[in-house]
Amino acid sequence: MKHIQDIISFIRDSFQTKEFIPLHEPRFRGNEKKYLIDTIDSTFVSSVGAYVDRFEEMMETITGTQKAVAVVNGTAAIQVALRLAGVNSGDEVITQALTFIATANAIVYNGAIPVFVDVDLDTMGLSPNALNNFLEEHAELRENGCYNKTTGRKIAACLPMHTFGFPVHLDELIEVCKKWNIAIVEDAAESLGSKYKGKHTGSFGKLGTFSFNGNKTVTCGGGGAIVTNDTVLGEKGKYLTTTAKKPHPYEFYHDELGYNYRMPNLNAALACAQLEQLDSMLENKRELANLYSNFFNEKGIIFRTELPNTKANYWLMCVELKDKNEREQFLKEMNSNKIMSRPIWQLMFRLPMYATCQRDEQVNAQFLEDRIVNIPSSVR
Ligand SMILES: *Cc1c(COP(=O)(O)O)cnc(C)c1O
Repeated sequence: MKHIQDIISFIRDSFQTKEFIPLHEPRFRGNEKKYLIDTIDSTFVSSVGAYVDRFEEMMETITGTQKAVAVVNGTAAIQVALRLAGVNSGDEVITQALTFIATANAIVYNGAIPVFVDVDLDTMGLSPNALNNFLEEHAELRENGCYNKTTGRKIAACLPMHTFGFPVHLDELIEVCKKWNIAIVEDAAESLGSKYKGKHTGSFGKLGTFSFNGNKTVTCGGGGAIVTNDTVLGEKGKYLTTTAKKPHPYEFYHDELGYNYRMPNLNAALACAQLEQLDSMLENKRELANLYSNFFNEKGIIFRTELPNTKANYWLMCVELKDKNEREQFLKEMNSNKIMSRPIWQLMFRLPMYATCQRDEQVNAQFLEDRIVNIPSSVR
């Protein structure tokens, strides 16, 4: 592939190392150690503690939402958010096939069935147009919601994912879902810090979810959050993820099936220290994105940048190559030169668990599947 040596040199120069360059590594440059020691000294290392409360408050401030609930990981956050949105066993949830496995798995954990609708080429996230076309063809509105005429099942929610931190076309998506009376839950796992028309991703739907896994922009080892502007749903989320126990000084009484999905205070301490640095991390990543953008522009290679009216967090940065063949060459060259590069995910319907799920033509998803690769994106 043309320019490959230049690309390798450029990335090496950008990260100033001759060693292996990972895709995304965590950086701990703030109060991480201090807060962790504080947690241990307090003995509150487990499922309750001051850092859990503080983390939830910080997430409310950052996302501009009424209520944040700390949970054990991003997958659990999606699972519970869908349940809170009214998804029941046997319902359908519409999502994109171009996503990380957790999005689809969380649907199935509720006994629900994923339906895959295409993405937009520009956002790489769920396409409002494709969604509307799908619904026009397959759905009908009944008194208590939207139903799939082909399967007879209720379409209880729509779960868009903001791929690599690039927000989907939210205004249009909200309009389509409103028309069809479908609740939106945003999988904002990858988009902490990303905004759409000045508002934080995850705050548009009925609920939104985040991940703080080791490879995300901000990490706490493992963790997740549910956010919502519906305080009743928010309180319910806290209740369900903490075993659904009725408050009492000593009695154990649980009045419905809850989960132990609590984020330990140890992890929350790490999360608080990391969130304090969110703005500087975003700025740092944006600088790298600008460098990449100028460099790849000169080489005639498409580097994905944020769309008008949006602010991307540049979680994982990516280039769009000419075809699958060029993609293979690129991946081989980069990885054999100790620069980590990965293709975008294989589409969900290629996996055995999801092969029989209903889906549309997936023209854009397949186009992107063949061409998008991630390149090193860590804070430097
Ligand atoms: C990271 C991620 C999640 C959640 O991951 P956890 O490891 O469970 O925190 C969910 N959806 C997407 C799209 C992700 O990238």
